[in-house]
Amino acid sequence: MLTLTPSQVRLGRSAANKAEAIRMVGQVMVESGFIAPGYIDSMLKREQVSATYLGHGIAIPHGLPEARDHVRQTGVVVVQFPAGVPWSPDGSARIVVGIAAKSDEHLQVLANLTGVLGDEAQSEALAHTEDPSVIVQALNGAAAAPEPTAAVTTFEGPHLQVASPSPHGLHARPATVLVEVIRRFHADVTVHHEGRQANARSLLSLLQLGARAGTSLTLTATGDDADAVLAALRDAFQSGLGEGEAVAPTANEAPTAITVTLDYEGTLVAGLSASPGIAAGPVWAFQRERLEVEERAPDSAYEHRRLEESLAGAAAELRQLYEGFLQKAGVQRAAIFKAHLELLDDPGMLSETHGHIDTGMSAGASWRRVFESRADMLAKLEEPTLAARAADLRDVGRRVLRPLAKVVEGEATFPDHPVVLLAEDLAPSDTAKLDPAMVLGLCTVGGGTTSHTAIIARSLDLPAVVAVGPSLLDLRNGQHCILDGDAGVLVVGPSERDRAKAANQRERTQARREEEKLERYRPAITLDGKRVEVAANISEAAEAQKAVDAGGEGVGLMRTEFLFLKRDNPPDEEEQFHAYRTMVRALNGLPLILRTLDIGGDKHVPYLSLPAEENPFLGVRGIRLCFEREDLFRTQLRAILRASKEGPVRIMYPMVAMPEELTKARAITESVRLEVGADPVEVGIMIEVPSAVMMADRLARDVSFFSIGTNDLTQYVLAMDREHPVLAPQADGLHPAVLRMVDLTVRAARKAGIWVGACGGIAGDPSGAVVLSGLGITELSVAIPSIPSVKALLRGLSMADAEAVAREALDSGNAAEVRALVRDLLAKKGAKA
Ligand code: PEP
Ligand code: MG
Repeated sequence: MLTLTPSQVRLGRSAANKAEAIRMVGQVMVESGFIAPGYIDSMLKREQVSATYLGHGIAIPHGLPEARDHVRQTGVVVVQFPAGVPWSPDGSARIVVGIAAKSDEHLQVLANLTGVLGDEAQSEALAHTEDPSVIVQALNGAAAAPEPTAAVTTFEGPHLQVASPSPHGLHARPATVLVEVIRRFHADVTVHHEGRQANARSLLSLLQLGARAGTSLTLTATGDDADAVLAALRDAFQSGLGEGEAVAPTANEAPTAITVTLDYEGTLVAGLSASPGIAAGPVWAFQRERLEVEERAPDSAYEHRRLEESLAGAAAELRQLYEGFLQKAGVQRAAIFKAHLELLDDPGMLSETHGHIDTGMSAGASWRRVFESRADMLAKLEEPTLAARAADLRDVGRRVLRPLAKVVEGEATFPDHPVVLLAEDLAPSDTAKLDPAMVLGLCTVGGGTTSHTAIIARSLDLPAVVAVGPSLLDLRNGQHCILDGDAGVLVVGPSERDRAKAANQRERTQARREEEKLERYRPAITLDGKRVEVAANISEAAEAQKAVDAGGEGVGLMRTEFLFLKRDNPPDEEEQFHAYRTMVRALNGLPLILRTLDIGGDKHVPYLSLPAEENPFLGVRGIRLCFEREDLFRTQLRAILRASKEGPVRIMYPMVAMPEELTKARAITESVRLEVGADPVEVGIMIEVPSAVMMADRLARDVSFFSIGTNDLTQYVLAMDREHPVLAPQADGLHPAVLRMVDLTVRAARKAGIWVGACGGIAGDPSGAVVLSGLGITELSVAIPSIPSVKALLRGLSMADAEAVAREALDSGNAAEVRALVRDLLAKKGAKA
């Protein structure tokens, strides 16, 4: 069994911050011969995935599983910081135990340590002792661990026999998963191990068992749902209790060719990378929405019910967010949702609200009065941690209030100085109004990587991080931060070193981009002579010129609905004609694909007074709406066809799901063409609905081209809302299910002799560009800032290699495997993904 020796203990140290403390601890581990220096970086990264603070001033930093090769020998060291080092929101560490684990020999030391944890006086003594042997005894002695109660135990009643998880036994991470499973049930669960028992709701108690990998555990349960909890636990043990989990807190596959590191010293708020680049500056919270409630309501029984439904809905949302963030970013970052759930459960608040309803107030007004007054009281308290709960309470309060209220879109206010803009979410109409000079970057509570916020951010070349969670809105306006769009994190309170590092990374990116820019007019011809056209996605007239200047070989997607978003009434034919003609002229002979209106889904146009829909992404959007509002459609087609007289314009219909929609759209277009006396133009459709893929052979008979909209195709194929903050990390357009859809489409198109482009977000992502080209896509339409880099990437590869990777991708099990295939290919070629 592993023992700690006095030479592995350092007393009376001080460190300014956690990173410095970890480096000191790592140094002791190197000196003790436990690790190679490279392990220290991994210890720092581990903290960013989840802090290793145990409680009572004790932290146990250790590296990530993939750094195990840097471990020379299993061992622990202890560094004492009597003044404490801020470690996590839960406290400062005074005893820091560095762990290098090749096997599970250190578990007994950990178990002893957790014995100390339960004893405040002892942990106080260890934090201040001047004698290393006091620490050595505490950690080596068996005394701190619970005494075995019996050598042999027989179990009656519901129980489950399992093996302690591999590879390191029941340490903090699997034990946390265990606790989380049990919290979903009422039953009391006890874990028995070698004569000891632990309350399975208590992490500390579980750690005290010191159960090594493969040793036997018996779980007993009492209570109504004893059988159910044991069944859930059996499943959890079978799936390894979260061991071998993904270690990065975010989807690091930013649409950029930058190697991502997460070595920051400031506080990290993890989200998803939606647009690459790094920004630094003060934060500024954007607010638009106002919730209005009726004061009085005659039917109190109905109001009581509405309140209950709304509370249940909010609780369900919070649970879902918790689960999602738990997997994505670890228990520490998910904890905010747990805290919010607790706030929802406050019996005093509930009875007071029901009391107001009984006096004739509406559910919304009652709830608002109660949560606002409580939050006001909290905010006035001097103790900062309690005051911070006021923000939480308001957040939860609004979550419950929303379904009870009328949501009024207020006038948005925009910053008048450069800021990193924080928002709950940004509607396309908000993002369209942003002044890029005043916005250094975007960071949102919700949203997904293919949401329109992300699309606009990419086109404006603004770094963006989405799906960060509501704690984002607790930040004070003016607080300094770094927004790392490559890594998908916001760094709050960055250190000097963080700032220097961010500046350095910005410079390197800039230098790479300058190089790519010099070559931007060279076509993307692969090493074996195959050409892929790289065109631009644009959303306003002025961008056509920018597309040409960036090396774009045309416009593969003009999202015409954006011309309708920034205003209070629809643009008339004349105005649209001028916009389209400006684009045609700027492109000077290069093709312009004008997609007809794709209103609906997340793109609301309030002045059109369209009926609200339960499920707008599955509702009347795109071409369906054009048929409902043929007046708008015809006006647009007139403007497009008039502009087509000046240059090569192609028309593309969005959201086509059935051949008869195409027939109808074509018939309307033809009648408008005859009206305006234009020559026939090429017509194509977006392939973004699974039914269109399955009918691609028929659809191909009636069009000149397809353009695959992977943003929508991904959401419809995987049944994951493209805006969903929790599902966003999985809603990856490189999922093999989506790629198989692309493959089917390309095959059908080839048979019919038409070409296929792609204009969804992954077309501009390095991995996406390679795999889509390998699948036979011959035009990639991407955000303007990505044009030079996508061209450069393809020029450095052979199509034969891209095709081989694409074939393997189709047989892969998930998007991560596909991304790994491309990474390997590019690593061989010396490029980066
Ligand atoms: C798509 O769905 O991939 C697409 C390009 O269209 P939009 O993002 O505008 O829905
Ligand atoms: Mg779409």
